[in-house]
Amino acid sequence: MKLLKDKIHQDGLVLSGNVLKVDSFLNHQVDPFLMKKIGEEFVRRFSDEKITKILTLESSGISPALMAALELEIPLVFARKRKSLTLTDDLYTAEVYSYTKQETNTISVSKNWIHSGEKVLIIDDFLANGQAALGLCSIVQQAEAEIVGIGIVIEKSFQQGRNLLMDQNLRVESLARIKSLENGKVQFIEEENN
Ligand code: 5GP
Repeated sequence: MKLLKDKIHQDGLVLSGNVLKVDSFLNHQVDPFLMKKIGEEFVRRFSDEKITKILTLESSGISPALMAALELEIPLVFARKRKSLTLTDDLYTAEVYSYTKQETNTISVSKNWIHSGEKVLIIDDFLANGQAALGLCSIVQQAEAEIVGIGIVIEKSFQQGRNLLMDQNLRVESLARIKSLENGKVQFIEEENN
């Protein structure tokens, strides 16, 4: 997606440890116009599917996922990373190791919000080692719902996440695929449809 790649080139900061900082439009301040276009692009790419719900992970997945949900006129559910006083029993949970924070979180979704037979599109901001996406997949599977696919805003293709998901025959659509962050420079994989 050219608009997104231009924005990453313009605003993205490469930090040590192969981390890309995009706080100006995705991870802290949010660019709603870009998020709207991102939502539309996810909907275009999965237009052959009948999606009934979108699932993401708080907090940075929410803005792109919400825009896709709005476009599809379906609900968005976000998995929580922290225990909530109002979220007690009846949870689907998964353990997720965070690459950037170097800690393990138990993510959870109330059983009220994903049902057996639903067709769920998973959306997240980044795909690195795939742990967040696999945790979200596990939650959909626990609910006996169907995973339509995984929509990612920024994929770090030099890490193993995409392969782990493809090994499970899951469809992955990433709007910007990064080949390398070496020497502080962002290099993308060039693809026909973006
Ligand atoms: P994974 O579970 O695929 O290793 O990592 C996905 C999660 O880690 C994303 O939800 C994102 O929050 C965070 N993450 C991984 N790599 C990066 C990065 O380079 N930059 C930012 N901003 N977040 C990242």
